[in-house]
Amino acid sequence: MPTQSSYIMPTYAPQPISFARGSGSWLYTADNTAYLDALTGIAVCGLGHCHPKITTAISEQAATLVHTSNLYRIEWQEKAAESICKAAGMDSVFFANSGAEANEAALKMARLYGFKKEFKHPKVIVMQNSFHGRTLLTVSATANPKAKAGFYTLDDDFIRVPFGDIAAIKQAALDYEDITAILLEPIQGEGGLNTAKDGFGYLEQVQAVCDQHDWLFMLDEVQTGNGRTGKYFAYQHSQAKPDVLTTAKGLGNGFPIGACLVSGRAKDLLTVGSHGSTYGGTPLGSRVVHTVYDILSNSDIMNNAATEGEYIQTTLQNALKDFGVSTRGQGMMIGVVLPEGTDCSTLVTDALNHEKLIINVTGSNVIRLLPPLNMARNETNQLIERLTRLVRHTLAKNE
Ligand SMILES: *Cc1c(COP(=O)(O)O)cnc(C)c1O
Repeated sequence: MPTQSSYIMPTYAPQPISFARGSGSWLYTADNTAYLDALTGIAVCGLGHCHPKITTAISEQAATLVHTSNLYRIEWQEKAAESICKAAGMDSVFFANSGAEANEAALKMARLYGFKKEFKHPKVIVMQNSFHGRTLLTVSATANPKAKAGFYTLDDDFIRVPFGDIAAIKQAALDYEDITAILLEPIQGEGGLNTAKDGFGYLEQVQAVCDQHDWLFMLDEVQTGNGRTGKYFAYQHSQAKPDVLTTAKGLGNGFPIGACLVSGRAKDLLTVGSHGSTYGGTPLGSRVVHTVYDILSNSDIMNNAATEGEYIQTTLQNALKDFGVSTRGQGMMIGVVLPEGTDCSTLVTDALNHEKLIINVTGSNVIRLLPPLNMARNETNQLIERLTRLVRHTLAKNE
């Protein structure tokens, strides 16, 4: 398959392969070659490809009613709102169409919170290596310089601290008077599959500082949400409780939808006219959200993500520890860390060509695994086997 059409703007550099269909943990090319999918469209298809209940929800609703706008009540949106609020332990939700938009809503709320306190220039604390999206404001909150170059974004609105470093947050509280919120990912996905050194207890420490200074405690669970880490939301591994929680990716299992949920201090910030979206929470998107909730909350899938995720980490560690390889992450969000300096430039292509395995590389030397939450043990074993062979081969080549 040749390179991508020049009619597409060159913002991506796709692999020269295209998939014709998908089912569960597998993607198939037009000639029916099967690839084991340990990426799920970047943590999106958590229930696997073309889950029959999602397929039914989409096709039935597409034949019934797709869109009416938020000028009218939307029954499916009200249903989806109740389910996702219950799952997240939050009070209410605004539906957007992507992760970046969900974060945009959160950041607008942070501004409103500062506005109410008559702050001249409300600031939000964000983390090194964070990723929050590609809109102008969320790209400012993002750490990666490549994502920001040339966009003259509003860096003054953000204070950046090292992820996992509670002392740096306390120092920022002393240095600045006009902080209104903290926005962070419980586990950093795009930025290198980073976990805090105090684990999820870090979230409790961050919340304590937010409570002390009356800042909004905002969690970006765009990637970690919807069962990915073995709990519905990653913060539920801790005793912490956010004021604002954003999610997307697994929320629609491939249908593009995002959500910004609030409780506590953030509850009444957005009012009629202060925010909106033409498409946010359509009957079609909302029915999918409700169906994902229905599947996750009435099945063993999240437990499966927890146990299979742990199994993947321990088995890989045992198989590869002699090669200086370690693992980190939670549930089905796993980083496999290769020795510093390993040339990983052909890893994704080698995995496709030699192992028929779909993976991603982040940082410069971290293999990022985001398998379906409901991956079966025989598939998990295939993933481990293919990945072990790939890593050994790559390290041998590097010697
Ligand atoms: C993917 C991602 C986003 C952006 O989501 P989009 O749907 O691409 O806008 C934001 N935050 C995190 C943590 C993400 O992983």
